[in-house]
Amino acid sequence: MYAELGLYIDGQWLNGSGRKGEDVINPATEKPLAHLPHASKSDLDLALESAKKGFALWRATSAYDRAKIMRKAADLMRERYDNISKIMVQEQGKVYVEARAEVLTSAEIIEWYAEEGRRSYGRIVPGRGKGIRQLVVHEPVGVVAAFTPWNFPVLTPARKIGGALASGCSLILKASEETPGACVELVRCFADAGLPAGVLNLVFGVPAEVSEHLLAKDAVRKISFTGSIPVGKHLAGLAAKGMKRTTMELGGHSPVVVFGDADPEKAADTIAAFKYRNAGQVCISPTRFYVQEDVYGRFLKRFTEYTSGLKIGDGLEKGITLGPLANSRRIDAMDSFVADAKSRGGKIVTGGKRRGNQGYFYEPTVITDVPDDSKIMTQEPFGPLAPIVTFKTFDEVVARANSLPFGLAAYAFTTSSTTAAAIGDAIESGMVGVNSIAVSTPETPFGGVKESGHGSEGGIEGLGAYFNTKFISQG
Ligand code: NAD
Repeated sequence: MYAELGLYIDGQWLNGSGRKGEDVINPATEKPLAHLPHASKSDLDLALESAKKGFALWRATSAYDRAKIMRKAADLMRERYDNISKIMVQEQGKVYVEARAEVLTSAEIIEWYAEEGRRSYGRIVPGRGKGIRQLVVHEPVGVVAAFTPWNFPVLTPARKIGGALASGCSLILKASEETPGACVELVRCFADAGLPAGVLNLVFGVPAEVSEHLLAKDAVRKISFTGSIPVGKHLAGLAAKGMKRTTMELGGHSPVVVFGDADPEKAADTIAAFKYRNAGQVCISPTRFYVQEDVYGRFLKRFTEYTSGLKIGDGLEKGITLGPLANSRRIDAMDSFVADAKSRGGKIVTGGKRRGNQGYFYEPTVITDVPDDSKIMTQEPFGPLAPIVTFKTFDEVVARANSLPFGLAAYAFTTSSTTAAAIGDAIESGMVGVNSIAVSTPETPFGGVKESGHGSEGGIEGLGAYFNTKFISQG
């Protein structure tokens, strides 16, 4: 029922023979699912040669023909969604309906990029002299090295594959070793759709070794990374040595501002469901809740009711609404956030501890009365913890929301159009949802500011990230 794991290099699936590797663990049971082979240095060199060859071939393929193959891959993802989703639940822990939504959204992403690649227009700038033609054209950047994390094993690779393939780049993707199976199946959809050998290569290994090896090579012209801020900074440093293009989708600590004129119950229903998606292991997860004093009690009550009503268990079982955390590191991290909050006067309204001792289950937790300089209010929790505090004025809450070095997503609830416009402008963040949580769609830009990274994925900006701009002056 789980995937057949392997590396995919130059159109060939390579298995574990003679290679080092690691076990993939089911976070709901802590039992191994399969053994994953790691790429050796010579496998990585093979992947590089393959990607170079793939680039030459793919950039010469018309955008129209590229789109046909990409659309076919998206169709295969839709045909195979049930199998891919079940693999994802086993290795990552999220509940089945979320895994299914992830696979189907990823198919949409590929399809959207396929179409948009056909519209990657340049422009003609009027020349200064008679007979001078000034052309601005887009050319694919080249071989891309992409690194994706364990929280969205299909969606994050799909964003990078979509942008790269639509623009005519080739790709070496190092997906997460902790959640490889769903991504293997994603790549299989492209292989079965007729993508030429070498255009998309999939490797696994020791992350630091793989990135160091690939980023040192001249042929790699762009790095796209999704993951933590410290690793993002490290990779940006490696990229700088070869002046390679980068897209960095890093962590955040998303503020939620509920103004006194909002409907607190409606706001709580909307944001609580969003909070516990993937057990809070989402880079745009709402993570710091500021509620204006007059509606605080009602918001907290409704949010807590939702939280304590969640059904914890294996994401493949019917009726389960909160799966396990993805790995034991997250359990340790949650314990540390909760212990710090308690020691700083924080009150645990519900949850606050691990559930059982088999599987990485953690109770969804609401915390109040925590100071702004506590760990939970200053570091990304990446788990099912919701600190909820009060605020008095607009200026005060904006200052508190903007006080951290992150700027990925932010949310606000208000019935005033003046406040809605003002908060949208005032928050330092790559995405702001005002009375809305829809900040991530295939056709809109997704990315952060400040230490949350730079560059966008999604929208025309996401496609542009894989193009060089060339100016041709033709006399
Ligand atoms: P981590 O920093 O060890 O790893 C984060 C990701 O980066 C993993 O996928 C890992 O395989 C990869 N990675 C690590 N070192 C690398 C290297 N030298 N080269 C290339 N890739 C490398 O942390 P973790 O324990 O896996 O996750 C902890 C934190 O990471 C979370 O608290 C969260 O802040 C952040 N995170 C963010 C996202 C996101 O979507 N932005 C996703 C996963 C994790």
